[in-house]
Amino acid sequence: MRRDARLADNPALLVAQEDGPAAAVFAWNRGVHLWSGRRRAHLARALWSLREDTGGALGVRSDEAADAVLAVAREHDAQTVVASREASPAGIAAQDAVRAALEADGRELRLVGTPYAVAPGRIVKGDGTEYKVFTPFSRAWREHGWPAPAPRADPGAFARVASDVDLDQRAAHGDADDPLAVRHEFREERIVQAWEDYVDGDLARYAAERDRPDLDSTSHVSVPLALGQLHPRTLLAATGAVPGEAARKLESEIAWRDFHADVLFHHPRAQRESLTPVMPDSHWTTGREADEAFMAWRDGRTGFPLVDAGMRELAATGTMHNRVRMVVASFLVKDLHLPWQRGADHFRRALLDYDHAQNQLNWQWVAGTGRDAAPFFRVFNPSTQAARYDPERRYVERWVPELDTPAYPAPMVDHAAEREVALAALRHARA
Ligand code: FAD
Repeated sequence: MRRDARLADNPALLVAQEDGPAAAVFAWNRGVHLWSGRRRAHLARALWSLREDTGGALGVRSDEAADAVLAVAREHDAQTVVASREASPAGIAAQDAVRAALEADGRELRLVGTPYAVAPGRIVKGDGTEYKVFTPFSRAWREHGWPAPAPRADPGAFARVASDVDLDQRAAHGDADDPLAVRHEFREERIVQAWEDYVDGDLARYAAERDRPDLDSTSHVSVPLALGQLHPRTLLAATGAVPGEAARKLESEIAWRDFHADVLFHHPRAQRESLTPVMPDSHWTTGREADEAFMAWRDGRTGFPLVDAGMRELAATGTMHNRVRMVVASFLVKDLHLPWQRGADHFRRALLDYDHAQNQLNWQWVAGTGRDAAPFFRVFNPSTQAARYDPERRYVERWVPELDTPAYPAPMVDHAAEREVALAALRHARA
């Protein structure tokens, strides 16, 4: 198991169960140890629940994937190991290491399925090259299509694999220094139920209200998608049966998810480097001034209510509304003149729905440096965005209760002036 902590619609598990009970193992590797405490605790709960669903059979091993998988293959005398195909740089590296370890031992790795609707790298233009622009990519993506969801794996057909990670303890306590004010659902069955309820209910409001952080009309599937507790194919099968604009809009967001994974697949360096650098390195604020600006942003005390509300929502819940993510990201890059990587690193630590491709490429989109990104000169104005998308101030008042009191700080920068600084630097870079 890797980013596919589910029994439903999991073709790799079905293949593994073809010749009898499957031995399922999750490698709790060094990468997981580098996750934030909140994300590790949530993963522990998701795996705890999955282990329950397999009658206690799932093994969780504190080891690198290659060692954990080889050990379990030997213990269970498995000739073939089945896993879903990863497309991110780290996922591919782990996959290659597992394959090498198995082959050196006379065994084989078989890759079945992908965490995306369409595997990254599959959608190409007539001449075999990648799509650089989202709209034609999404058109080709729809034309390509995807298979129907696979039947649920047999919960009774698992061989018991010993664990050496104490999931009970980790799931119950998490990391005390990084707690969340809310607990996200972690049981597969309830996640699927919540999604089905959404399709029957609030989905109808999605097209009209998805940009409104004050109205709760988005699907909230990003956290389960990040761990693979839901597969996008399951989502698309449900929306495909719903007529109307809202369902098409949600499908288009899932296409963005596939597009970003595709970009990262073709350009692994995009995980750290700007794909299209627009600003010279000399533009960015550095030193103590940069650190202080970053901390004010991170802690939600910029004096811009929508930015502060978003950063506090992130700290408390591990998620943030998409519209507000765009506003806070634009503010960091274009008002505080800090490089997008710094904001992306903070999101990695704070987001429960953290997904490498989605986070890095969305940051690049806002920073104007990505494939088919917003142009750099598009600068979000945090005040007009608030007036437009949170007109009654319900969202900001929820997260910034001291808004109209002397305790709330004055704006830390003059937005109009900083916008000019950013645009002047852009003009200079282009001259
Ligand atoms: P809905 O609006 O209900 O959308 C359904 C699904 O479509 C989402 O769960 C997601 O899988 C996909 N989707 C929606 N918007 C986007 C988008 N802009 N790009 C790619 N896929 C999208 N999303 C993550 O899953 N992980 C991240 O680490 C992440 N980091 C982001 C960083 C920045 C700076 C920005 C601007 C966006 C980021 N997003 C990320 C995308 C988006 O904000 C979240 O997917 C969305 O807010 C999740 O809420 P939802 O499931 O209710 O979304």
